[in-house]
Amino acid sequence: MVVMASLNSSHTPVTVLGLGLMGTALATALLRAGHPTTVWNRTRSRTEPLTAQGATPADTPARAVAASPLVLVCVTTYDDVTALLRPHTAELAGRTLVNVTNGTPEQARKFAAWAEEHGIRYVDGGIMAVPQMIGTPAAYVLYSGDRQAYETHRPVLEALGGTRWTGEDPGLAALYDLALLTGMYGTVMGVVQSYALIRSQGVEARELAPLLSDWLNAMTASLVPHTAEAVDTGRHLTDVSSLAVNQAAFPNILTAFADQGVRTELFDPLRELFDRAVAGGHADDGFSRLVDLLKV
Ligand code: NAP
Repeated sequence: MVVMASLNSSHTPVTVLGLGLMGTALATALLRAGHPTTVWNRTRSRTEPLTAQGATPADTPARAVAASPLVLVCVTTYDDVTALLRPHTAELAGRTLVNVTNGTPEQARKFAAWAEEHGIRYVDGGIMAVPQMIGTPAAYVLYSGDRQAYETHRPVLEALGGTRWTGEDPGLAALYDLALLTGMYGTVMGVVQSYALIRSQGVEARELAPLLSDWLNAMTASLVPHTAEAVDTGRHLTDVSSLAVNQAAFPNILTAFADQGVRTELFDPLRELFDRAVAGGHADDGFSRLVDLLKV
């Protein structure tokens, strides 16, 4: 039986399973914060740099789990987590398992149900950082699931960066994580397409970069909160930029891509969306209305 409440958080032993780029960063941050850290990785050589910093390598996942009341797992997919942990329910029982492997809300819920069945305190995590940010104020991790286990170990988890509790539904951290990544992919792919267009004329991407950066910062600073307000209140009528005017102007972008020899497939679906919105009677509404139209 692991008595977590009595642990001094500054000395809580922690186990990290999975020492890829992210797992190594997590273990390094825990070591720096003074936690006795046990590490295990399928490819054993990856434990060596951490051992040199004071980590204890474990021969097997079972021994690694048995070493700490708090176990972090960070491998590639949920299938990998399942394959790794299913044989070790006996060792995991009574401990807190924090799974920061990227996955879907449904995968997190299924995994949480499995953990509960076996007496494992389960917290799902979504890391909003790259490894180099871990342990700095720029990083934060989203958490959901067993609130008590999270609160017990929050002082330890703070070694990784900021903590954001999203709720007791174990799928919520993954949902927030994927929503944030959706915004990121949309922006990144816009940047990529924008550079493809400017380069088609022989203009260097770095010529456009400062303009693009200022433009995106200014747009998102107002668009993100205003769109949220319109979505939540259902008040979509706009005095900024109507769907009708965007429907009229957007084909110019697609034509310019084609004229300049740039592929259009990333942006083609948007034309259909504007057409559908205007045909559906939403000509005077703003972008927020499209949120409704994206429902299956
Ligand atoms: P990575 O460098 O490719 O490392 C993958 C890790 O998973 C390695 O330790 C690998 O072990 C282990 N692994 C894979 N399949 C396994 C299995 N079946 N059994 C046991 N171990 C297995 O990836 P990463 O960047 O650390 O990412 C790990 C997780 O963090 C992913 O879910 C990723 O989406 C998430 N994440 C990453 C970042 C990032 O910027 N890197 C940011 C946020 C979230 P071996 O060494 O033996 O191959």
